Amino acid sequence: MEIINLLRGDITQQDLLNYYNASISYEDLPDNIRGFVFLYRSIYHIIINKKLTYYLRRKTVLHELAHIELSHLGQLDRDLFAFRIDDCEDEADSYIQFLLETMKND
Ligand SMILES: [Zn+2]
Repeated sequence: MEIINLLRGDITQQDLLNYYNASISYEDLPDNIRGFVFLYRSIYHIIINKKLTYYLRRKTVLHELAHIELSHLGQLDRDLFAFRIDDCEDEADSYIQFLLETMKND
């Protein structure tokens, strides 16, 4: 079960969240933060800014799921975190873009 299945409509967002042991909550975050994800006690907590539009909320959820699917959270070494975070941001966005392109070519 992967993000591509969600994009194709084969599974629901909830199916994928269950599969990854992830939960989403919508919180009042500063305007410059769309969302983030962290791993705590084997559960991925995805936090989304509730002030975002429906479209941006969807997009941010996909972005955070990409961090999970690409195992970014497991890889992050505390010392390397500051250097790696930008790479991970780009990679998560490119990954979703890649999946969307893949679907167009199906
Ligand atoms: Zn991110």
